Amino acid sequence: MPVREHDLGEVRDAVAKLCATFPMDYWRATDRERRYPAEFVRALTEAGWLSCLIPEEYGGAGLPLAAAAAILEEIQKSGANGAACHAQIYTMGTVLRHCNEAQKRKYLPEIAKGELRLQAFGITEPSAGTDTSSIRTAAVRKGDRYIVNGQKVWTSRAEHSDLMLLLARTTPREAVQKKTEGLSVFIVDMKAALNKGLSIRPIRTMINHATTEIFIDNLEVPAENLVGEEGNGFRYVLDGMNAERILIGAECIGDARWFLAKATAYANERKVFGRPIGQNQGVQFPIARAYMATEAAALMVERAAALYDAGRPCGPEANMAKQLAAEASWQAGDMCLQTHGGFGFAEEYDIERKFRETRLYQIAPISTNLVLCYIAEHVLHLPRSY
Ligand SMILES: Cc1cc2nc3c(=O)[nH]c(=O)nc-3n(C[C@H](O)[C@H](O)[C@H](O)COP(=O)(O)OP(=O)(O)OC[C@H]3O[C@@H](n4cnc5c(N)ncnc54)[C@H](O)[C@@H]3O)c2cc1C
Repeated sequence: MPVREHDLGEVRDAVAKLCATFPMDYWRATDRERRYPAEFVRALTEAGWLSCLIPEEYGGAGLPLAAAAAILEEIQKSGANGAACHAQIYTMGTVLRHCNEAQKRKYLPEIAKGELRLQAFGITEPSAGTDTSSIRTAAVRKGDRYIVNGQKVWTSRAEHSDLMLLLARTTPREAVQKKTEGLSVFIVDMKAALNKGLSIRPIRTMINHATTEIFIDNLEVPAENLVGEEGNGFRYVLDGMNAERILIGAECIGDARWFLAKATAYANERKVFGRPIGQNQGVQFPIARAYMATEAAALMVERAAALYDAGRPCGPEANMAKQLAAEASWQAGDMCLQTHGGFGFAEEYDIERKFRETRLYQIAPISTNLVLCYIAEHVLHLPRSY
């Protein structure tokens, strides 16, 4: 169901109001201490925003992806960092389309009530990198369970999630015709698995992202936790990945709008040589350019979300949305820092934090080069380069 922008006004207002109760010094403190913003995540959960995509019959709000995009954009636009919980929304891209009825009845109502969290997405591995089909984590069926062995890296929020969507190989790469075949997705009960085949090691990074490394050693996963059919997992995670790319695009639009508002206000108020710095074209042109890039990228995010909500193919649009929005937010961040001169470096202006945070989205969930490879090969039909 496509949603018009004016229908989302109430959603945007309510999210903005909630975010306003978490002032910037809250984000400064959590960032400084690399502390999980549990209070913020709880407030979003209780307000029902993190279960926005879950259909009403399972206790959620049953909103389309366009609404989820508006929610995440507002969070970022307020100066907050939604990365602490955005995966609870985008993992639904895989769950709603590919989990069976029994799995949905088991998990979705509890997720909607906020009693269960599904915000870990275990795909990336240290040796495979972007080449997902080369992952080595393997699941072998033994009766009514799978025995899983392997390692994941950059599994964000693993310490703050009850469940994880895990991608593993169920048929060796040499035994399949296409390398994307033979991969399967599992729902892993992380609390039950912790120290019984699953261990988690946090990775400290330049941003407050609660990201981790996961070691899997003879972990037993019940066969009923297999999502869809064995061997088709790559297709299932792609649905989650498209949702993720569109939503991260929306977050970048929110970041860009935060940088633009901050820079415009400062350029109007800061006086040097007896006049506002924003009167100089050397200052106002980069702001205008960043604004134009942001508005153009926002249209692509909107289009990708509309295609996704209509159940139509949206791979190119989801990738372009993520890339254009990530570039726009980085352009806006760089412009905002430059506009603030030395003060842009001061923690209390929050620019340096948002600058670090928004940089991630040119690397994750997929790096810019790989988006370009995708467009070159699949849209422009140029030779595959990798
Ligand atoms: C903070 C953070 C959080 C993350 N959270 C998650 C998560 O929750 N779950 C998860 O599964 N993953 C997560 N990731 C992983 C993320 O998706 C990957 O880092 C990203 O996809 C890039 O993979 P890589 O780091 O292995 O880079 P690599 O694949 O090693 O690539 C390194 C560089 O080489 C370039 N490159 C590689 N191959 C080519 C090519 N053929 N042509 C041109 N350039 C190429 C890339 O563009 C990149 O710039 C996270 C990463 C970070 C940093």
